[in-house]
Amino acid sequence: MEHQSKWDIMTDNSSDGILRDVHPDTLAVRAGIERTLEGEHSEPLFLTSSYVFDSAADAAARFSGEESGNVYSRYTNPTVRTFEQRLAALEGAEQAVGTASGMSAILSTCMALLKAGDHVLCSRDVFGTTTTLFSKYMAKFGVEVSFVPLLDFSLWREAIKPNTAMLFLETPSNPLCEVADLARLSTLARESGALLVVDNCFCTPALQRPLSLGADIVIHSATKYLDGQGRCVGGAVVGGAELLQEVVTFMRSGGPTMSAFNAWVFLKGLETLRLRMEAHSSSALELARWLQEQPGVERVFYAGLEQHPGYELACRQQRAFGGVLSFTVAGGREQAWKTIDAAQILSLTANLGDAKSTIVHPATTTHGRLGKEARLAAGITDNLIRVAVGLEHVDDLKADLRRGIPSIS
Ligand SMILES: *Cc1c(COP(=O)(O)O)cnc(C)c1O
Repeated sequence: MEHQSKWDIMTDNSSDGILRDVHPDTLAVRAGIERTLEGEHSEPLFLTSSYVFDSAADAAARFSGEESGNVYSRYTNPTVRTFEQRLAALEGAEQAVGTASGMSAILSTCMALLKAGDHVLCSRDVFGTTTTLFSKYMAKFGVEVSFVPLLDFSLWREAIKPNTAMLFLETPSNPLCEVADLARLSTLARESGALLVVDNCFCTPALQRPLSLGADIVIHSATKYLDGQGRCVGGAVVGGAELLQEVVTFMRSGGPTMSAFNAWVFLKGLETLRLRMEAHSSSALELARWLQEQPGVERVFYAGLEQHPGYELACRQQRAFGGVLSFTVAGGREQAWKTIDAAQILSLTANLGDAKSTIVHPATTTHGRLGKEARLAAGITDNLIRVAVGLEHVDDLKADLRRGIPSIS
């Protein structure tokens, strides 16, 4: 992996100069802290829906925006603000806005930055609900959407229209770990006068910083690795202050705000994010290499394998390869289900980004809504299994998978 200096030294613009030119590890535990008069060391949790004013004049000034200060927790909350500043610092962004979920981060971005008559170009290989949001709801409000395979750059270029306002994608993709060239797509977006929006859920800023490669907005489902222990649902929109101002205005009017309690949990998650992402990544790489050697396994999809078509690009663009991999077994759907059902440690759930490893059959769960033809075109075959590698010992995960992988002599 290339470790450019930009990975190593960063600045938290909100920190009054204390956290200038420090490492991301320091930002992850210290950015965004505003101590109260109590002198607490750990970040306080502000469970309050509203705030009192010093005087009627103070209330008027805060309501009008003449003076900054809290008014109501749909607008601002100190715990949520600490989370937002810390995440913004880690993504190298001017600003972040916490949202109630990953989906409400995408919804808020669309509501704030799109209008009727706009065209969106979206990767075919995004989270299933994202596809529904664009094709069912954005379309209902007059936003035209086209879907293109993540890796077919010439199709992205051909699908651009004069009214294309947004390019939306995830990299690496779920579940085949395809890697898109963010620098190249950001050039295309800029030339087309469109915004590049990247869902960075799978890598997190610990492994990939899309803004540094030219993206305009980063989306997070904090539910996944930012929490990291499967407790809370939340999300975030991250980017430049000017674009984010529109998102903030929508959040106040639309209301899909992050809860203070969840923000506090995510803050704790950010403190250990890099350590966890490195552990997820090294276990996933070891498991992927091991799976490749199993006679009952046909193919393994993980960008950390040198044979994977995204390997070189992932080495340039990511700091490690992440915790999600998939593989196909000999024996079709029946054997895939047997392999999944034989696992005793891995949890059978579609979630990911948890300390607990998970296993799922994409064709009949996460990608079940696609028709068979669309599913096969996207490479989601019936014998494909996805594993999101957690923090258990990798030898135990191997033993657990060995129970159900067909032995072929
Ligand atoms: C889970 C997920 C989402 C949606 O996030 P929620 O927090 O569940 O609303 C969006 N994008 C990706 C890549 C995801 O994995």
